[in-house]
Amino acid sequence: MGTTLLPGGAGKYVLGIDPACPRCQEPLTAPHMLLQCPNHKAQREYLEAALHSHGLVLNLYNVLDPKGAARGPVFSVLAKYLLDCQITDKI
Ligand SMILES: [Zn+2]
Repeated sequence: MGTTLLPGGAGKYVLGIDPACPRCQEPLTAPHMLLQCPNHKAQREYLEAALHSHGLVLNLYNVLDPKGAARGPVFSVLAKYLLDCQITDKI
């Protein structure tokens, strides 16, 4: 995985971006936003449901690279997740 476009990764290299989650002050990494941030729990349930309906568990690998028939639906929910989390202005 390595460097991501989220501020927690990019912030180390791009001046002026706060690399901390604006809501809970944890480092703003992809795992934090997608799997851990307590502020996105409601939205995350939709993501988890989309994964479960294709027999997948909620983890970073399945969210970012879902296999086969899960790919379209999971990316669709992921796009909504990012919109709901209102982080699209930061990526
Ligand atoms: Zn957070």
